[in-house]
Parts: sequence; structure tokens; C-alpha cells
Amino acid sequence: MEINMNKIYIVGMGPGFESMMTKQAIDALEASDVIVGYTVYIKLLGEKFQTKELLTTPMRQEKERCHLCFKKALEGKTVSLVCSGDAGIYGLASLMYEIGQEYDNVELSVIPGITAANSGAAVLGAPLNHDFCTISLSDLLTPWDKIEKRLVAAAEGDFVIALYNPSSHKRKDYLMRACDILLRAIEPDRACGYVENIGREGTSYTVCTLGELRSAQVNMFTTVFIGNEGTQIIDGMLVTRRGYQIE
Ligand code: SAH
Repeated sequence: MEINMNKIYIVGMGPGFESMMTKQAIDALEASDVIVGYTVYIKLLGEKFQTKELLTTPMRQEKERCHLCFKKALEGKTVSLVCSGDAGIYGLASLMYEIGQEYDNVELSVIPGITAANSGAAVLGAPLNHDFCTISLSDLLTPWDKIEKRLVAAAEGDFVIALYNPSSHKRKDYLMRACDILLRAIEPDRACGYVENIGREGTSYTVCTLGELRSAQVNMFTTVFIGNEGTQIIDGMLVTRRGYQIE
């Protein structure tokens, strides 16, 4: 007997503008009957997807959002779950596989997207052009002492660091706390930067030192970059040298 597999695409939509979505992501959305996502991301989708069945769930209702996708897929609909950036980087791709164990006959397909580290790096110049890591400062799902350990390890390893979730309404001082930990191992004049609203209206960026970053006002739509020992500010841009010898 042939089993009909229902399809769910887990789509990374990039930072915002449709021009920063991959062709594969656009094709998946076009092939879908239903698009599910957090309200903000559904609003970012362009006109051409407004004919789809658009289902939103508020922030913090991630599990409900995932179950909704499976429910719709089992009704025979092709479903896309949209996440900002890449769905596998602080997104819902892994939760979909975990919850998917409860459902039969549903096939998951992850469509990669441009994550904030990449799109933000492009705004600042070339800060990630050597070994780098990403660390999320959100302690909603990760205990703060683990975040602290990762910050220390990244500083000791001389990684360039892209900080996600540097602030929220409840965690206004988290970037300052992170900088204080990094400043134990890194000099205060280390080159850093941050970008707000990447790929959306009102993109803005700042290049600064780690000492200055400590008191920077950032919000939840900001990605922060801490340079490594080889990071320089060149013509106002943040550049991590790869090591080529320039005459
Ligand atoms: N899956 C997303 C990350 C989600 S975590 C991705 O791959 O990009 C949310 C954090 O990502 C935000 O707090 C911010 O640090 C970063 N971020 C996501 N989109 C952004 C944007 N358009 N501009 C700046 N930062 C962004």
C-alpha cells in the first residue's frame, strides 16, 4: 500500500527583506497551502504570499506553533513553518523533529536561510573572516552559568563572537553582564560592532570598542559582534584579518 507523505517545509526566511530569502525558500512558500509563523515574520512576508492560509501564533507559543503545522499537514495541506534567519540557528527546526516523533506520515524538509550573523557581518564589513562562534544571551532555555562558561571559553579561544538575543524587556543588562565577563580576558579597546534591524527598514550599525559596547543600548533586533585579536577597524568597518601578508 502506498503511504502518502504529508510535507512540511521548515523555512529560514533570512533577516527580513524578500531579496534576502533564498530561491529555495520562496519556492517552498509558493508550493505551500498554509504558512505558519510568529506574527512578526508573517507580517514581513510579501504580497505574493497573502493568498495562502496564514496562521500566526504569538511569541513563546513555539510548541503550539509546531503542533499546528503537523495538524495542518495531516489534513493533507502542504505546510511551511517560517523562522527568521535560519530555522536551525536558535529557531524551530530541532523542536519540529522532536515533536515530529509523535506524528506518522509527515516528511520534514529544512530550507536554509541567511542567519543574522551572516547578514549582520555583511553590514559591518568582514568581522567573521576567521574562526567564530555564536552565543545567545537568552537564558529562557539555557541556564545563565552555561552562557557564562561559553563566553569565557570563546574569549580564551580567541573566537570572533556573534551574540544573539543581546537584550529583551526583561534582560536589559545582559549585554553589560556579558561584556564584564569578556573584559576579564579581553582588552577594553578590542574592536566590536552591532547591527540593528538587519535586512529590514531602519538598518543601523555601530562600530565601537568592547569597553564602549558595555554601555551600548541594544534591543532584541540587534546582533552584536566581538572581534578577535586580529580584528581591526578599517575605514569605519569591522574587519577580521585572515592572516594574509600585505606588502
Ligand atoms: N533564527 C534566527 C535567530 C533567532 S534568535 C537567525 O538565524 O537569524 C533572535 C536573535 O537573532 C535576535 O535577538 C537578534 O540577536 C538576531 N536577529 C534575528 N534577526 C535579526 C535582524 N533582522 N536584525 C538584527 N538581529 C537579528
